[in-house]
Amino acid sequence: MSDASSLADAPIPAALARVKAEIAEACARAGRSPDSVQLVAVSKTHPAESVVQALAAGQTVFGENRVQEAQGKFPALRPAHPELRLHIIGGLQTNKARDAVRVADVIESLDRPKLAEALAAAMAKEGRRPELLVQVNTGEEPQKSGIARAEAGNFLRVCQEEYGLSISGLMCIPPAGEDPVPHFAFLAELAARHGLKRLSMGMSGDFPLAIAQGATHVRVGTAIFGHRPYPAA
Ligand SMILES: *Cc1c(COP(=O)(O)O)cnc(C)c1O
Repeated sequence: MSDASSLADAPIPAALARVKAEIAEACARAGRSPDSVQLVAVSKTHPAESVVQALAAGQTVFGENRVQEAQGKFPALRPAHPELRLHIIGGLQTNKARDAVRVADVIESLDRPKLAEALAAAMAKEGRRPELLVQVNTGEEPQKSGIARAEAGNFLRVCQEEYGLSISGLMCIPPAGEDPVPHFAFLAELAARHGLKRLSMGMSGDFPLAIAQGATHVRVGTAIFGHRPYPAA
């Protein structure tokens, strides 16, 4: 288990360095190159100043749950930071698809045909094609976003064949309080079966375990930015 969350109140540059070192260690243990894992710094609920501090420390990839919050923080930072990449990682309402396509470089939470349809239409209108990951509800939790395990294969086909969307990988959030490893292993197997290269899995509490299972993106919030000032939706 990572002990990075114990440093949750360290200054952002120090916390970031610690998380990067833990990623490198986990990669070394798994015989993987440290460049094979991208750190998505999850800045939800934290102010733009925190993002600026992380940018100054060399972090370029960020994650936000809510489109509206992302719109309030990131477009203003882009002119000075053209290298910035924003991932939308939270459940996405269909009526937010167009805003999501405008603000995001990657959308990790594609999880139903209606949303695939809305994103395809928004991409055509905006002339902008963020990279897409399909979120899988590996724990089959009713309150959680994500396509059901058994429907994932068919959904990938629908995205590609019916809506012309190119899907680059899969994302999951294992149930809280459960061993995440079987969920990570399931996602990795599903991705391999469908020839998908990107695997977004692992958060502050479990990213080294996710790296051992093949994660290419880890989404880390608390261990970088500290505890959230208010709960995220
Ligand atoms: C908040 C969030 C994270 C980051 O969680 P931490 O435990 O703070 O690292 C990662 N992924 C998603 C989808 C999230 O909503």
